[in-house]
Amino acid sequence: MRLYIWLVCSFLLLAPCFAHPQPKRFSSDLPKLVIAIVIDQFRYDYLERFEAHYLPATRASGGFKRLLEHGALFTNAHYHYINTYTAPGHSTLFTGVLPAKSGIVGNEWIDRNTGQTVYCVTDTTVFAVGIEPRSSAGRMSPRNALTGMVTDRLKAASPNSKVIGIALKDRGAILPAGKTATAAYWFDAASGKWISSSYYFPNGELPKWVHAFNDRRLPESYLGKVWTRLLPDTAYPMPDTVQGESNLLGETLPVFPHKIVDISTLNDPRLRRAKRFDAIAPTPFGNELTIEFAKAAIEAESLGKRGVTDILTLSFSSPDYCGHAFGPDSQEQMDMIVRLDRQLDDFFQYLDRTLGFENCLLIVSADHGVSPLPELLQPDGQRGIRLYKATFLDSLRKLVDARYPNVIENLENDEIVLSHAVMKAMGYSACDVERFVGECARSLHGIIGYVTRTDLEHGSLDPTGRMVKHSFHPARSGDVKLLLKPYSFFAFAQTGTTHGTAYAYDTHVPILFCGKGIRSGKFGRMAFVEDLAPTLHRLLRLPSEAAYYDGTPLFEILDNIASSRSKSRLTK
Ligand SMILES: [Zn+2]
Repeated sequence: MRLYIWLVCSFLLLAPCFAHPQPKRFSSDLPKLVIAIVIDQFRYDYLERFEAHYLPATRASGGFKRLLEHGALFTNAHYHYINTYTAPGHSTLFTGVLPAKSGIVGNEWIDRNTGQTVYCVTDTTVFAVGIEPRSSAGRMSPRNALTGMVTDRLKAASPNSKVIGIALKDRGAILPAGKTATAAYWFDAASGKWISSSYYFPNGELPKWVHAFNDRRLPESYLGKVWTRLLPDTAYPMPDTVQGESNLLGETLPVFPHKIVDISTLNDPRLRRAKRFDAIAPTPFGNELTIEFAKAAIEAESLGKRGVTDILTLSFSSPDYCGHAFGPDSQEQMDMIVRLDRQLDDFFQYLDRTLGFENCLLIVSADHGVSPLPELLQPDGQRGIRLYKATFLDSLRKLVDARYPNVIENLENDEIVLSHAVMKAMGYSACDVERFVGECARSLHGIIGYVTRTDLEHGSLDPTGRMVKHSFHPARSGDVKLLLKPYSFFAFAQTGTTHGTAYAYDTHVPILFCGKGIRSGKFGRMAFVEDLAPTLHRLLRLPSEAAYYDGTPLFEILDNIASSRSKSRLTK
């Protein structure tokens, strides 16, 4: 009997070692399709400020309010780092780690080993698919990311799952979809086609359905169309134009109505580098185009209908283009977001008809916020300052060269890049040079502080310093991070606005989950964007998430997991 018990126990202990991995059976609790939506430059306050104009929620209709009614919203979610740009935002949302670890510290950065400027998703080892193979618009992949994404973890656990990323912007499509994605598609504004790269399609061929979609020539149908206000004029509490707004391509005034100009018909030498379909992106037609392509992907790839969980990542790039031109307080941005509410309503009704909304897990967040136009007086009595890289570097070099000649190489992502070679050859102490450069910069207009590489590697840091550290990668970052006065930035032009600071207007974004297994409600505690990926990891019941993420799951919204945890506590 003892021997029998011993044999049974041994078998039970050893059984897991010999067991073949079973193909994961589809659980009815798991979503059939995860749709992870990133709204580019969707500041948290847009949800509240424009709420009165969103469609009411019903069981079968509504845009933002449908998600808010049935889902969980984190009202105080922030980016936890200073480099609040598009690529780090998309990367952090889906890697669940900070830019310091993913290496995606900016849309571009200077590779400190080669001195070359690197675009976040450029990959010269791959070729464009869907257009001329050598076209730089298509030579893209997620290879520069140093960590995998939550989407990759689904693919590893469930190889039959499909993960597809879609956005007008290449980086908005590629980074969320991950390293093992089925595909990422982005919009080529020169040809008006959705394209991809040989990273996803080594045979150099787009799927037939993508050709069929491109053949519909939807972008051409937008040329000549007019963007008018959706709501009555009196619904917009702000003037149509204020100082600091930019003109859209081909226009002479930043006011409604806006016409979608065919750039190829213009004879303006300033638009030499502009592409034929560039005028679509800053308008609501850009979101419409993205949704139409997403519907085609869902249908042709049978997403959510194959007995496994699929993921579609959808990034809406148009609010960012519009926000850069007109600012967050403009009629244009208000109209863009209110129209997006209608476009989401249409998309959700499409999901109702095809998959059942209740079979989908919807996630909404944003990659960063945005500063008001610096010319506008803010409620705190301050205005911002437009700084210009070339004149700023001239002034800084005049001050620094007197003591340390030729040490300043460049300025990228608000970081002064110093020549390590010159410092070494001259025997300068890096710590001394960094501090001197920081002090000189602080004496210039618009700069209120700095954090040095030495501080980041060895010093004790205040909360802003820690946000700088979270964006710092030794081989991809500069040597002196400049801290700018509120509402101030290095500008490309005398109009428009941007993002990229540690101020709340850039860091505060919504995190919204809606679907099966989500406890609905509003949650006001501080949450961080790197928490989103581990939360999705839990929702998909993927194994052992702890090792991958800087963030922690947002446990209070995980209905099933919370209840199974409390049950196990009761039985102990
Ligand atoms: Zn962005």
